[in-house]
Amino acid sequence: MHNTLKKDIFFDLDHTIWDFEKNAEETLMELFDTYHFHGIGIGAADVFIETYNRNNQRLWALYHHGKINKSELREARFADTFIELGVDPKLFPIAFETDYLRLCPQKTNLFPYAHETLGYLQEKYTLHLISNGFGDAAEIKMTRCDLKKYFATIVISETVGVHKPHPQIFHYAIANAKTEIPQSVMVGDSLEADIRGAQNIGMDAIYFNPNKAEIPSDVRKSISALEELKSLF
Ligand SMILES: [Mg+2]
Repeated sequence: MHNTLKKDIFFDLDHTIWDFEKNAEETLMELFDTYHFHGIGIGAADVFIETYNRNNQRLWALYHHGKINKSELREARFADTFIELGVDPKLFPIAFETDYLRLCPQKTNLFPYAHETLGYLQEKYTLHLISNGFGDAAEIKMTRCDLKKYFATIVISETVGVHKPHPQIFHYAIANAKTEIPQSVMVGDSLEADIRGAQNIGMDAIYFNPNKAEIPSDVRKSISALEELKSLF
């Protein structure tokens, strides 16, 4: 990758800047207490969270493949979790999903050195954001975490109508940023959505791999902490 040619850096939001896992867990722990889950037969918060995470990931995959829509995703992820944990459907807390959606995006845990790194990069490059997700949630996250100031353009898949890795969202983001593919680079945690999505249109990509997972051979550049970007750029 010829970093000297780069002018525009595109970032993913969830699991790359915004610590989705930590924020979701914090929210679920709070709701576990608020809703007195012990009383409806769910023994431990960690079992609830683990079951929810698994269902949520499965449903997001279906959503990305167009098999279910946004409201089906939102309805099923907790209902499926409660069913799996053996909770009587009559005891499902109706407002749980709404409360989760309201509270989770307000959480402010970011990956370490997010602000320092973005602040540093912003001095030398133009930064942009491409997020798969819902516009309302992304807006709240960015505002609560004071992230908007770093990004010249923000593209949300819900607004464009297609998700990463679809080439159209990358082409849209590039055009919207008034830049070109050779001078752009994508940074994200998803091999499929961010890395291969970018590479498929000929755009360089940097794999954010904080859990130090095994790196597939088609990944050309990776980092395990955001601050490593300061030595790359
Ligand atoms: Mg991500």
